[in-house]
Amino acid sequence: MLYGKDNREEADFLEPIFAEAAENHDLPKYKLADTGLDSQAAYRLVKDELLDEGNSRLNLATFCQTYMEPEAVALMSETLDKNLIDKSEYPRTAELENRCVNMIAELWQVNQSEKFIGTSTIGSSEACMLAGMALKFRWRKEAAENGLDIYRKRPNLVISAGYQVCWEKFCVYWDIELRAVPIDSQHLSLNMETVMDYVDDYTIGIVGIMGITYTGQYDDLKTLDSLVETYNQEHHRTLSIHVDAASGGFYAPFVEKDLVWDFRLKNVVSINASGHKYGLVYPGVGWVLWRDQQYLPEELIFKVSYLGGEIPTMSINFSHSASQVIGQYYNFVRLGFAGYQEIQQHTHDVAIFLSKEISQLADFKIINDGSQLPLVCYNLMPDDAREWTLYDLSDRLLMKGWQVPTYPLPKGLDQTVIQRIVVRADFGMNMAHEFMQDFKDAIADLQKAHLVFHEKTEIKKQGFTH
Ligand SMILES: *Cc1c(COP(=O)(O)O)cnc(C)c1O
Repeated sequence: MLYGKDNREEADFLEPIFAEAAENHDLPKYKLADTGLDSQAAYRLVKDELLDEGNSRLNLATFCQTYMEPEAVALMSETLDKNLIDKSEYPRTAELENRCVNMIAELWQVNQSEKFIGTSTIGSSEACMLAGMALKFRWRKEAAENGLDIYRKRPNLVISAGYQVCWEKFCVYWDIELRAVPIDSQHLSLNMETVMDYVDDYTIGIVGIMGITYTGQYDDLKTLDSLVETYNQEHHRTLSIHVDAASGGFYAPFVEKDLVWDFRLKNVVSINASGHKYGLVYPGVGWVLWRDQQYLPEELIFKVSYLGGEIPTMSINFSHSASQVIGQYYNFVRLGFAGYQEIQQHTHDVAIFLSKEISQLADFKIINDGSQLPLVCYNLMPDDAREWTLYDLSDRLLMKGWQVPTYPLPKGLDQTVIQRIVVRADFGMNMAHEFMQDFKDAIADLQKAHLVFHEKTEIKKQGFTH
């Protein structure tokens, strides 16, 4: 390619790279311009701004969905204008949401003799806020009835130290003490030997995680349920469990049907999941369900008008587009149980493949081999001769476009730095083979390189939490 040399200083107006007059004018970056652009120029300009953000499908750091079928995308684009909260203007949309809640209730094995209640949310974070508030309100009522001085101490919430940041938010926003049960190398999920030591009269509930964001491990909810049952009998309480199944809620029911973690367990009163993780919808949609209406205090429910009557709602946000809920319904109709099962099973197989491949490379110790959530994480075996770290490997992989995060584990194991690959539906076996080739090449490069020596091991603070 041949072109003339251009010695201009960097232009302070937009380069008219598409040869359109509309682009050839000053566009301030941080204040509203006096006049606008025409729609095509604006479209191209914004699109270009986003050009270097990486390919989301090569982002192996996130649980969030990065692919939907064109029909789903069309449907969602066509319904962006619908406001989910406006039940009277959009009663059909409200009905689709209702159907989704019913389907999910069955997936999570509600008891037919109870009256479940649930809602869509923006994601698991909002769902966890709602579930946490229900725990708090129920605790407060019961504690007052039992004659406890509820103002003597702050109420607390018990959860494994591998909690996702939304629980910290919940505790800060609603003034609750977060009691994190430490993790250690023997207990990467909630420690069943010590969890009950953290419980007292001021505990609003225990949160079990399906699975922990950092490593994918599931909390042992069956054991937790029996511990809580014993505690309740001894203390005449109804301490209950909320399950944060952000990732596992739409995965375990298809891949691990025999695993009992859901409403089959008596003390599990509510469950949340992200529709935009293994529910296979683009961000943001989540779900939260209570096994029976008695677990959702009335005060938390507000009524909005619906076809001349009223419909109960519960949310922190009010107006937002219904298109994600419609996308969720599309997936349910399109895939059915068998479709979800096939996709999740395939995702699982890819994770197992990757972990087998990586475990054969001498340097790595596998922490999760993809047998719980379809993710693989590992750390480096100690080796004094090695001059590179997992952070360097992440950088090398990024050169090929792969985003693979490296981070320390939560408190208790924060000296352990791991790398994590999250497998999603759109990361097929072909891509996995290509990835492994790039992975091996990256290591070979690092072994030969002499420019990566670090004075100190780098410890970064925050892990990947989505
Ligand atoms: C991702 C995640 C969340 C937050 O979910 P969003 O849908 O992103 O709000 C909460 N808990 C766990 C365990 C998660 O993995």
